[in-house]
Amino acid sequence: METPAFNSEIHVKGWVRTRRGSKRVAFIHLNDGSTIHNLQIVADIEQFGEEMMKKISTGACIAVTGKLVESMGKGQRMEILAEQILIYGEADPEKYPLQKKGHSMEFLREIAHLRPRTNTFGAIFRIRHALAFAIHKYFNHHGFIYLHTPIITGSDAEGAGEMFRVSILDPKDPPLNDTGEVDFHEDFFGKETKLTVSGQLEGELGALALSEIYTFGPTFRAENSNTPRHLAEFWMIEPEMAFYDIDDNMDLAEDFLKYLISYAIEHHADDLAFLEKMYDPELMERLRFILDNPFVRTTYTKAITVLEQSGIKFEFPVKWGSDLQAEHERYLVEKHYKKPVILTDYPMDIKAFYMKQNNDGKTVRAMDVLFPRIGEIIGGSQREEDYDKLYNRIKILNIPEKDLWWYLETRQFGTAPHSGFGLGFERLVQFVTGMANIRDVIPFPRTPKNAEF
Ligand code: ATP
Ligand code: MN
Repeated sequence: METPAFNSEIHVKGWVRTRRGSKRVAFIHLNDGSTIHNLQIVADIEQFGEEMMKKISTGACIAVTGKLVESMGKGQRMEILAEQILIYGEADPEKYPLQKKGHSMEFLREIAHLRPRTNTFGAIFRIRHALAFAIHKYFNHHGFIYLHTPIITGSDAEGAGEMFRVSILDPKDPPLNDTGEVDFHEDFFGKETKLTVSGQLEGELGALALSEIYTFGPTFRAENSNTPRHLAEFWMIEPEMAFYDIDDNMDLAEDFLKYLISYAIEHHADDLAFLEKMYDPELMERLRFILDNPFVRTTYTKAITVLEQSGIKFEFPVKWGSDLQAEHERYLVEKHYKKPVILTDYPMDIKAFYMKQNNDGKTVRAMDVLFPRIGEIIGGSQREEDYDKLYNRIKILNIPEKDLWWYLETRQFGTAPHSGFGLGFERLVQFVTGMANIRDVIPFPRTPKNAEF
């Protein structure tokens, strides 16, 4: 928005961050959440009266009409000389939890209903918004179709993690079948349903009709993982592209991540500068590190050799065939390659059934993108397009065919090579804002034993 001219009459509304001043004038710092910068309001105390001034305390919500003038004071270019002030809502200084600055992130999580009013969370949520917007912008520009995949799923085979059940049956007295198990035929959908862990399978159906699609929606995992990188409810971006092989897939992932980070730097430099100053002195350097380096592309097998030869004693031992932990991923990125890394060709047994099988019979065409500090930010693969190979894999893993007949049909009718990946949105926001804990980049985090707000 354009700044109005000096000496024009303007009208502003917002929440009081601080009120300071002398006996004669009060300096009120007002913020409406649109930027990290406060607007200074200068009020003549005699004009408004001591009584009223007292009510304009930290946290109160006010509307001000006055003249915009150049500021003579330090720290701001302009200020408003108040002519009228309307108090929408007071905030009793004795009770308002954000009366003082410098609360811990843990405390602020307990007041998730108020924490957006802090400078920190204002900055984080503006950046989160910008990244969400940039995601749509990027895909739209590249001709991808935004496809909405279902949140309630009847398929138990998404395979990405433990699921939450969706049911209207009475938990105290559920209908039972002959064998004494809960009879989901009587449930809302006539079958057992869950919250989705991924939109990928449906995304693939879209790609095999519309060529390039993406989903961007909430996903749910009922894992009891109390880590700084896991949420029970998180948002995921999942592009799926017909006619892409794994190299095309890696090119897209790299270009996409670089675009998103540049977008945040271009549009939210002030918010990033604030977060860097307050929390993370290496923030901008880390963002530059992604932009300035081509991502290293190597295989899981080579990475295992690097880790084995590192001489480091990891908490989880390294062995070909076991999944990499964040500590391994971070070592590769931060210490060994010193570049963002994409690992490909993982052992078949630690990856999902739908990944394209390599000719060695042992590995699949998976790709994980690894970033400093957080480890895996993207997981993806070329998908198995061959009906027989896919069918055999499903049989070997004992996945019920009745859960996947529709998925298998896309390989029977006009199958095509295709690829895709999943980017955890909060992991991205975490990386861009430098926040140490994923709970601080989503307005209302859902984690084990926590769904208050
Ligand atoms: P991890 O090994 O880190 O638990 P994953 O391998 O289970 O992740 P995928 O199933 O590959 O994850 O999901 C794709 C992406 O979604 C991940 O790369 C990550 O960015 C994100 N993600 C996965 N699980 C979570 C979670 N519980 N909370 C937030 N983001 C997640
Ligand atoms: Mn993964």
